[in-house]
Amino acid sequence: GSGSGTTMRAAVFTRSLREEALERSRLADELRASLAGQDGAGDLLVHYQPYALLSHPAAVAGFEALVRWQHPQRGLVPPVDFVPVAEEVGLIRPIGLKVLQDAAARSAAWHALAPARAWTTSVNLSPQQLLDVDLVHRVTDVLARTGLAPHLLVLELTETAMMLDLDGAARRLQALRDLGVGIAIDDFGTGSSSLSYLHRLPVDVVKLDRAFISRLEDDATALAMVRAVLDIASALGLTTIAEGVETPGQLRILGDLGCDKAQGYLLSRPVHADVALDLLTGARPLGAASLTA
Ligand code: C2E
Ligand code: MG
Ligand code: MG
Ligand code: MG
Repeated sequence: GSGSGTTMRAAVFTRSLREEALERSRLADELRASLAGQDGAGDLLVHYQPYALLSHPAAVAGFEALVRWQHPQRGLVPPVDFVPVAEEVGLIRPIGLKVLQDAAARSAAWHALAPARAWTTSVNLSPQQLLDVDLVHRVTDVLARTGLAPHLLVLELTETAMMLDLDGAARRLQALRDLGVGIAIDDFGTGSSSLSYLHRLPVDVVKLDRAFISRLEDDATALAMVRAVLDIASALGLTTIAEGVETPGQLRILGDLGCDKAQGYLLSRPVHADVALDLLTGARPLGAASLTA
């Protein structure tokens, strides 16, 4: 009857929740092992996605460091499949620190190869890292260890992260800026507060979320919003980056609207460090290079 059907559904539901929790704790154990450098646990590695000035779309203006987990059985695990678990179980701070350390060391080494160019390296910080009272010391320490000049590093944070503790966030972000480090608001437009907070937070860069960029060519509302954000950002003296640029049409519109930089598959997907160096030196062209010819 219907009674046993309900019971059965409840049982299935409960089991799948339990399985999910089990899977998450397995993942957390494996992540912990990987962080500890245990054999067979796979490595956390950093891929790099370039961004470019819209005025010079053929040259790398910087890279965003994006973490991946090279897992022996699961393959290359994207951040969406392990960063939330890491945040849940308190592993995101050591993971974030490792990404920052690796990206800063790599960046310092590449700058030594071509010291004249002032391209930047952007690293994502989780909300929990922003809540860490030791964040400024940790960043200072990584810069000292790697020799990377502070003005060549940009830290990316979402609005949501900044909203968790607005005063604390503003204080720590200001301390980081005092070091010379740049601060970017990531995924701008997806949070709830947005424009009203732009002038209250010590930030240098606004990254427009891919959701707006992908609708730019056929949605008048998206176009109007992107235009408004770019106008306000430029009035506030902020640098703007469009995320997720995939088509030449989007690139052209963004250039017309006065956006500073673009990032997206049109230029390049996130790539292994060796490939990133080739993009930096010009040994490999960016995808948008042909568009300028
Ligand atoms: P995000 O910081 O907004 O990074 C941009 C994401 O969009 C990346 O996904 C990138 O591969 C993807 N993307 C870039 N261009 C395009 C495009 O043209 N089309 C499409 N469809 N996608 C594009 P990824 O690497 O999977 O990272 C996802 C998110 O994971 C990041 O979003 C960031 O929030 C988080 N994440 C990545 N690395 C780290 C890290 O080291 N620490 C922390 N806390 N979070 C990280
Ligand atoms: Mg980011
Ligand atoms: Mg983003
Ligand atoms: Mg995004």
